[in-house]
Amino acid sequence: MWYGDQSSVSRRNFLRLCAAGSVAATHLIGESASAQVRRRRRGVENSHSSRERVAATVGSPQVRTVLGEIAPDQLGTVLMHEHVPFVDWSELYDTPAAPLGEQRNAMIARAVEAMQHYTASLPDGTGPGAVVECTPIRVGRYPDVLAEISRKSNVHIIACTGFWGESHASQHPWAVRLSVSDGGLEQLAGLYIKEITEGMEDPAGAWGERFTDIKAGIIKCASSTYLKPSERFCHKAAAIASVETGCPITTHTTDGGGLEQLQLFLESGVDPGKIIIGHQGNMDDRENQAAHEYHRRIAGEGCNVQFDRVGHGKYTVENQAEQILELVNSGHIKQILVSHDSALYVYPEYALMEKSAERWKSVEADFTICTVQLRKALADRGVGEADLQAIFVENPQRVLAF
Ligand SMILES: [Zn+2]
Repeated sequence: MWYGDQSSVSRRNFLRLCAAGSVAATHLIGESASAQVRRRRRGVENSHSSRERVAATVGSPQVRTVLGEIAPDQLGTVLMHEHVPFVDWSELYDTPAAPLGEQRNAMIARAVEAMQHYTASLPDGTGPGAVVECTPIRVGRYPDVLAEISRKSNVHIIACTGFWGESHASQHPWAVRLSVSDGGLEQLAGLYIKEITEGMEDPAGAWGERFTDIKAGIIKCASSTYLKPSERFCHKAAAIASVETGCPITTHTTDGGGLEQLQLFLESGVDPGKIIIGHQGNMDDRENQAAHEYHRRIAGEGCNVQFDRVGHGKYTVENQAEQILELVNSGHIKQILVSHDSALYVYPEYALMEKSAERWKSVEADFTICTVQLRKALADRGVGEADLQAIFVENPQRVLAF
């Protein structure tokens, strides 16, 4: 069982222990991380910006990939929101994660092939290319698998820390547990910071039991149509972690919510240039003629507008190109990001307790739609080479470096 000894603590028991102050932070994320956050937060109040301090000590900003830190100009083209290769909602339904079993190598091989195909689609001088892997904690995020795919394909992968939201499933029970524990916000922020600065959690252990040395390079947040309490909690932790480290935040939105997210982040002191409001281009903008106005308001706050479902359903290439063109024409070229939000494998029977590796479902995914079809659709509309370079290469590099 994936839950190990965590499952032996009932929710009621846990709350009682919390109230009595008997559950140490180490039970959830490790004492040192949450203690560090408390110390750092006190420091932040007494200084201008912790981000400035971090920047001053580490030199020029770097991008944190799963294979280590690299200079931003090494990335080439970047797809800003993908799931290579897995998504598994099991733990959100309080059931064990699906085993990878003997399918593991075949699934990795297919991901490597897809990434090589992506690299081959890139214009000269914009390779090897990178993808931001937006699968949150315990939803099919396997740091060792990401490192292996990157090593074998040469495509840079930036992994994320952060819990998902409640738009299509329950909040992850680990995040719920933190949200009701004493000092839970600092513990959650501590977990995010630990994943960014030391390494991501290893899902082979119980929650927070083991960590890899593979670091996250972005923080994921997700909201339902309205920010639910558990989502607000995770957004606040993300804001603390971003202010502490300078790490960018990328969001999932559901039929709106982007302005509410950025309001929370900005009020928490997050650098607007490090905020990416995702899943724009359809329902997020209220699906009406005022879509451009919505995008322009996000960009007007200094945040990034991400069209990251290019080619899916209503997010047709032509429609996305039209909406991007509006932002280009209103002077926001530097705040546009693109991607597909595609996964190669999902586990459909997430609610079952008994799972087998054979039941992973292969999904059709083409990671070249942005770099080939969208690029052409934008060029056909008069978007010049310098602006295309900004959207596909320069903007991601600037946003991802910290
Ligand atoms: Zn996604």
